[in-house]
Amino acid sequence: MKLISKSRFLEYRACPKDAWFRLYMPELDEFKISISEQGRMDQGNIAEEHAKKLDIFSGFVEIKTRNFDSRKEIDLLMSQKAPAIYQPTFVADGFIVRCDMLVCNESTGKWDLYEIKATNSIKNDDSPRDHISDLSFQTIVLERAEIDIGKKFIVHLNNKYIRKGDIDIENLFLINDSTEQVSAKIEITAQQMENAKKYLNQKTEPKNGCNCHLYGRSRHCATFGRSHPEIPEYSIHDLLRIGSSPSKLAEFVKNETYDLGEIGDTSDFSVTQQNQINTYKNNKEIINEKEISNILDEYKYPLYFFDYETFAPAIPIYSGYGTWQRIPIQFSLHIIDKKGGPLRHVEYLHQENSDPSEIVAKKLNEYIDPKGTVLAWNVSFEKNVTKEIAARLSKYEKVLNRICLQMKDLSDIFSKQHYVHKDFRGRFAIEAVMKVLLPEMTYENLPYTGEDVGYVWWQDIANQGLNPKERDQKAHLIKEYCKQDTFIMVEIFRILNDFVSKK
Ligand code: SF4
Repeated sequence: MKLISKSRFLEYRACPKDAWFRLYMPELDEFKISISEQGRMDQGNIAEEHAKKLDIFSGFVEIKTRNFDSRKEIDLLMSQKAPAIYQPTFVADGFIVRCDMLVCNESTGKWDLYEIKATNSIKNDDSPRDHISDLSFQTIVLERAEIDIGKKFIVHLNNKYIRKGDIDIENLFLINDSTEQVSAKIEITAQQMENAKKYLNQKTEPKNGCNCHLYGRSRHCATFGRSHPEIPEYSIHDLLRIGSSPSKLAEFVKNETYDLGEIGDTSDFSVTQQNQINTYKNNKEIINEKEISNILDEYKYPLYFFDYETFAPAIPIYSGYGTWQRIPIQFSLHIIDKKGGPLRHVEYLHQENSDPSEIVAKKLNEYIDPKGTVLAWNVSFEKNVTKEIAARLSKYEKVLNRICLQMKDLSDIFSKQHYVHKDFRGRFAIEAVMKVLLPEMTYENLPYTGEDVGYVWWQDIANQGLNPKERDQKAHLIKEYCKQDTFIMVEIFRILNDFVSKK
């Protein structure tokens, strides 16, 4: 019989089939941990290391053994009334749990349970990984292991905290008594645990459990194709926002209509969905030259193609930042000074362990002429990062707000349906558009994704852990990533421009 851990149980709540795959086939490529996933886990561990320093946990004893063998050690510490026990493991009734902290409550004689979360708030929305279900699972296992549990607390990051000098641990975290919410969830959680135990102890791959054929593509995980080989890689599930019409999707699935080409009457679909279906059926793109031309005419030279990369640590590493607040570590700017003029490139990558905000603001002021248009892809990200720098640096507030006013979103042409191609598959991400308009370009030559870059910067560049040659190589690669993003924008702009000027 497989022991069901808390992580596995929460994975089961999110998706039974995925939890089964992870338990029995952990070696699948789909489960390889990416740099950014590892980075986020590391941030969780860093937050926990800080939380251990809270006064409430003073004098804790750490349990190093992670299995059944630790029970004797835990019992001894409990009998000696240790002030707090860090990471004790309990096994009961087919379940295993490693708690964050048990604190001896001298007034009640019980052990209070603390769960540390590197989040800015408590999740109590009944979503698969909500924090109260997490604590309820722990409570049930501990009670079955005959531990006299008292109150249940969630320790989480204080989203109002702004670092000033050294970290103020007591203000960095909030401690919430969640005892009542946990009590309200015990019964349902116990039932879910029984279901999970039964499902996850099937030795052969269950036929049920993967219901994502009833949801849009954005809900599908990487193993979807294993459970639903009958559904093509480009299917009705890729229809833009089909997930918001579950009954419509269910009907298609029931009739095994997966190919967009098999859809008959489209009058019941939104205009964007009709566009996607029609471009697919007719194998012909939709191009609204007039609207594209109008948008391009609004752009004023010099044109700046702009992209930031950021790093958002759980615990602020510099003064002026809050928890999980992003640090602008680099930017790339491709510039065309005048119509038909040559392309030039400037960039900045911060290569020290210090706040880059001021130097980034200074350089943007230097590079971006007030007369020009600053183009980004999904401009709200660039705008918000710029506004956050302005909020930290009153000296540059005016200039940064001016740059924000100069920003426009190049992806508007696609999201507003002025250019629709069946192979965008209803998406407007730069990569989706690039694959169609610039098939010779790829991100595969670069080892990192946009999500990885911040973590690479923190581990290998800011922290100076590598030798200078290796650091330079990493710096070069993340610069290339950012540069490629803005270069793709330039090329897409040129294609649109050429297209419109030929008409
Ligand atoms: S595709 Fe959806 S339902 Fe299927 S295994 Fe993945 S997450 Fe679960």
